[in-house]
Amino acid sequence: MSHELPPLPYAEDALEPHISRETLQFHHGKHHRAYVDNLNKLAAGTEFDNQPLEKIIQKAQGTIFNNAAQVWNHTFYFAGLGPQKHAEPQGELARAMKSSFGSIDDFRKVFTEKAAGLFGSGWAWLVLQKDGRLTIVQTGNADTPIRQGTDRPILTCDVWEHAYYIDYRNARPKYLESFWHLVNWDFVGRNFSA
Ligand code: MN
Repeated sequence: MSHELPPLPYAEDALEPHISRETLQFHHGKHHRAYVDNLNKLAAGTEFDNQPLEKIIQKAQGTIFNNAAQVWNHTFYFAGLGPQKHAEPQGELARAMKSSFGSIDDFRKVFTEKAAGLFGSGWAWLVLQKDGRLTIVQTGNADTPIRQGTDRPILTCDVWEHAYYIDYRNARPKYLESFWHLVNWDFVGRNFSA
């Protein structure tokens, strides 16, 4: 059993004008696919052959970890975006955000600061802690909250340059503005309530 590239949950042009078809063609069609292909090549003939993705992420080191984590992170990232249905978080999630951050605007502000301020390549995450609090964490390169398994990912933003360079060149803050137009709050709410 080898790992497969999950299809995008929307058309390649569905995120325009915020994220272009060309960006998704590269980001999903080239980068995400390369992580899947590399993982399959690297895991073949090792103890990680035929293992579920989460198990590989929790046990592997080095390039096998990096590629497995990037497969998971990208699937989660793409699922968290979409042509908008709700412009704002709803219900229980909205209440938890207000309790943890003061307001939804404060949540967006802190998340944006953490995503903008991450040095180099990595990810910003909204996670649910064991104590029921929501918090925002940064991970570098391929690292992912799934590795520790204690905090549950609720939403992520990819701040590797390949996520925004075609559309925004080096202007990560402009990409982050666009990100908020695309967040699939139904997906985020489901992760929170799961
Ligand atoms: Mn990426």
